[in-house]
Amino acid sequence: MSHISHLRDLLGSDALLISDPNITVSYSRDHAVFAQSASPFAVLLARSTQEISTALRYASEHGIPVVARGAGSGLSGGANATANSLVISLEKMNQIITIDAQNLWARVQAGVINLDLDTAAKELGLAYLPDPASRSWSTIGGNVATNAGGMCCVKYGVTSQHIRALQVVLASGEIIELGSATKKGVTTLDLVHLFVGSEGTLGIVTEITANLQVRPSPPATLVATFPTIDLASSAAHSLLQYGPSMLEILDQTTLQAVEAWHPLGFEIAGAVVLMQLDERKERCEEALLTCARFEMIDGVFSDDPKDAQDLLRVRQLAYLALERMGSVLLDDVCVPVGQICALVQGVENIAARNNLVIAVFGHAGDGNMHPTIVHDHGDQEGARRAIVAFGEIIELAQSLGGTASGEHGIGSIKTNFVHNEVSKEVIEIQHGIKKLLDPRSILNPGKKLP
Ligand SMILES: Cc1cc2nc3c(=O)[nH]c(=O)nc-3n(C[C@H](O)[C@H](O)[C@H](O)COP(=O)(O)OP(=O)(O)OC[C@H]3O[C@@H](n4cnc5c(N)ncnc54)[C@H](O)[C@@H]3O)c2cc1C
Repeated sequence: MSHISHLRDLLGSDALLISDPNITVSYSRDHAVFAQSASPFAVLLARSTQEISTALRYASEHGIPVVARGAGSGLSGGANATANSLVISLEKMNQIITIDAQNLWARVQAGVINLDLDTAAKELGLAYLPDPASRSWSTIGGNVATNAGGMCCVKYGVTSQHIRALQVVLASGEIIELGSATKKGVTTLDLVHLFVGSEGTLGIVTEITANLQVRPSPPATLVATFPTIDLASSAAHSLLQYGPSMLEILDQTTLQAVEAWHPLGFEIAGAVVLMQLDERKERCEEALLTCARFEMIDGVFSDDPKDAQDLLRVRQLAYLALERMGSVLLDDVCVPVGQICALVQGVENIAARNNLVIAVFGHAGDGNMHPTIVHDHGDQEGARRAIVAFGEIIELAQSLGGTASGEHGIGSIKTNFVHNEVSKEVIEIQHGIKKLLDPRSILNPGKKLP
């Protein structure tokens, strides 16, 4: 009997277990361009924690690789299927189980879309704040597994800072509860945050207890242009004193790409800084004075939410404008905030050396930059140079005291770079933990851990 027949016997004939290769192929990869993938032998659209437990118990017994999948919006090949693997998709487990407005938490199934939780919280005057740009389609389980970031992290922190408790199914099929719904809790080792960011290698997260906050008032938005990236990044560093809830930077290559598509008036700028403040609008006036100290060309602000949309448009169009120019490869390095300028200058050298267009934009408030490498569609040689440049950018960031990935994860495309910044001893500890939790290494093999 095949694995599919056995699994059907164990899960019941009504289980959503798909083996049609025309369908399973669409579960084989995420959004990472050059990551390896293979078609899984089957996809389980899990409807309960118990189904996942049953499937994992069987997979453990038979040494079958298992890849957990949320929405597949990842950018590091983390959800890519490997040969003869079973993909377990959480997309059907999309129930918001409880919202406790008094104690400011929500319990959700892992397949709940990030924005759906925030929308439900909004009806009660609350917010689920972690805001990856993919929030309208990525799942909270995927956000937990990658420890996703976003624009508001500069003030509110990344996903891990919003997670109180988890239900996890281990490789053996055992179901465990970690953490507590209380705001504080130090009764055990902090195993919740061992699983946050583990990219599906230690267990499958099935339920999540997340923080909600009283909804912040609509922010004031400020845009300032500067003659050089050097001055813009110094200004951004200085703007941190205002406690921004968003602080973004775009270099000239990015601005030129946007201008070529949607002229917004940034043609003479060498760089742009965008900032949002939850507090009073008057602080924006002070912030503009700060920008003036860095040779600001022009600066405006508004606390009208409609204006904010216009002011932020250049940031929203950045990635799409670059995609129009060719195939793109997005890096996700994070450097100390004071090193943003050195990163951008180093990236310019890498672009020239490899004869590529590389634009840089990203989260100036926490140094998490997205150098975006562009090469012509179908140009194999350009693709090869892009992959070389991708690695050189990571090594540059590491040499500046930074890290290979700020928010997208290591997945399958950055494991080679982990050794540069993580000691042998720490890698051994990680392998020890993996062995304890997943002795046959069935969970997302070849990902995250070098
Ligand atoms: C246009 C665009 C914008 C983006 N913007 C951001 C951004 O601003 N910030 C950011 O951090 N990321 C961003 N991303 C990347 C991506 O959206 C995030 O990594 C997101 O958290 C992935 O969620 P997902 O549900 O799609 O997970 P998937 O891509 O399906 O999976 C991601 C990883 O998590 C694992 N996984 C998924 N669900 C579970 C689970 N329940 N249990 C255990 N492991 C699991 C998978 O095995 C894989 O390793 C962006 C992506 C795109 C395409």
